[in-house]
Amino acid sequence: MWHSLFNDFLGLIYPNVCLACREPMVRGEKHLCTRCRAELPYTDFHLLPPEENPLGRRFWGKLPLQHALSYVRFLRHGRIQQLLHQLKYKGQREVGTVLGQLYGAELQAAGLNTEFDLIVPVPLHPRKLSKRGYNQAAVFAEGLSKGLQLPWSALALRRTRFTSTQTRKNRTQRWENVATVFEVGLPEAIAGQRVLLVDDVLTTGATLEACGAVLLAGGAASISIATIACADR
Ligand SMILES: [Zn+2]
Repeated sequence: MWHSLFNDFLGLIYPNVCLACREPMVRGEKHLCTRCRAELPYTDFHLLPPEENPLGRRFWGKLPLQHALSYVRFLRHGRIQQLLHQLKYKGQREVGTVLGQLYGAELQAAGLNTEFDLIVPVPLHPRKLSKRGYNQAAVFAEGLSKGLQLPWSALALRRTRFTSTQTRKNRTQRWENVATVFEVGLPEAIAGQRVLLVDDVLTTGATLEACGAVLLAGGAASISIATIACADR
């Protein structure tokens, strides 16, 4: 009784708003309002046969993928952009964990928890990490890990630190430099594992492609990808 009165009182001072539409929520709603939960543009790619998955097709001839998954479609000027904005620029890390947990539970219900051994987020540049305080891909990985009940590792993959500048290199050397932005951080954690590589948003897919190639070269048994949102091409 007192507890709920106290919560109602707190609600007057700090209205409990939906992370997606910013509208006040009613009691019992948490993080996302009922309407947003019902109306988010879910892809349901995990329910499609691999050859009919449009996201998987985008990686044909570039990176062999077991599963290509994205929770929702990226749409500008709406709930999805709001969610990603809260996650990336407003310090709302729970957006990543909540969406990861919801999506992970859905993937588990579809039996996909038996398809992966380890969840690995795309690493963030150290400078951005210290500015934001967290890696948005890692909080999504953490949520997926809870929902799928599978381990995740933020150390399995890392960004390399450059010591030389780009300016004095020729074209080929510069390309090699870009291609070696990522490296395996924990070789023993990757070897023989079916990795679910995750990021917040997929646009061109170049980052996931580079990370996936590094993980395969590092001995991963297979690569699957999962993002919060993917942009249509
Ligand atoms: Zn809402």
